[in-house]
Amino acid sequence: MKAMVLKAANTPFVFEILPDPTPGPNDAVARVLSCGSGLTIQHVKAGRSKALFPRIIGHEITGEIVETGSKVKDLKIGDPVTAYYYLYCSNCHWCQSNLEPLCENNGGNVGKDCDGGYAELIKLPVQNFIKLPPGLDYKKFPAEIGVISDAVATPVKVLKRARVTAGETVAVFGAGGGIGIHMLMLARRAQTRVIAIDIATNKFDACDKAGADEIVDASEAKVSEAILDLTKGKGVDVVIDFVSTALTLETGMAILGRRGRLITLGGHGQKFTADASTMLLKEQELLGSRYVTRREVVDALNLVANGDIWPMVTDIRPWEEAEKLHELLEKGDVTGRAALLIGAERPNLS
Ligand SMILES: [Zn+2]
Repeated sequence: MKAMVLKAANTPFVFEILPDPTPGPNDAVARVLSCGSGLTIQHVKAGRSKALFPRIIGHEITGEIVETGSKVKDLKIGDPVTAYYYLYCSNCHWCQSNLEPLCENNGGNVGKDCDGGYAELIKLPVQNFIKLPPGLDYKKFPAEIGVISDAVATPVKVLKRARVTAGETVAVFGAGGGIGIHMLMLARRAQTRVIAIDIATNKFDACDKAGADEIVDASEAKVSEAILDLTKGKGVDVVIDFVSTALTLETGMAILGRRGRLITLGGHGQKFTADASTMLLKEQELLGSRYVTRREVVDALNLVANGDIWPMVTDIRPWEEAEKLHELLEKGDVTGRAALLIGAERPNLS
């Protein structure tokens, strides 16, 4: 198979011919049609997120099963699939409770701790493939379908985890990012008032299109004052923080109203200070959120299949242009998600 290999951190991709992967008894192999390109995998390429090299990165795939291991019963050749990002044991208490992200024997991530989707073929444990529901035109829209498993599923989960209900006000830090944009879409769909907060002014049009009711430019305004103004001093019901620096988290606490929930995921994961007295008086909650369950990927796929939401993939290229695309990702110049077409539109690699 042809593959786009990273030999070391912070080096360009190298196109290589590698042996086709052969599945173990509980593995399957899929032909990759497309693979999403987001900051998570750019962090691996740039060396900010540790991985063993050589490595094939990428996890937001659309593919078709081409081979299954001897013990595989749930998938057959030709099945359209996407990938579940976490490697999990399926036996521990948390896996048995269908909370795979909390697996006590977490094996890492697809495209980081095992080879991922920037290749013609991908081999994964069968439990890491999720069959696409009918109603998704994956052959016509492989890029959009591929990014659902993370960029759409993550915000689907956040709405549940933060118990967001219609009529609430939701503030999103890092709203212009690939997941942030889809968070805005889903919060809007949940009939909330959505306030987008970001410093990337080049993403504000996209935030507007995605459904933000108000946009706060964090590079200009004092965010807490701007939001308290917008909410007449009451603060917001939910803060969703994709940035998670001490500054954003403490600002998030400062704009949180009564019974408010602040949810942190991704980003910098910094330590911050919270005022227990305010938390008590206002009955506030602090929540963490980690990727999604398998079930939440299926829920997200069904939302797209039902026409409730459509992924925002603004830059779709043949995989020969991976290097160029990752330069744009590094500079923050991709709006929504980007994706590479791999088997879907085979470039001339001769
Ligand atoms: Zn487990």
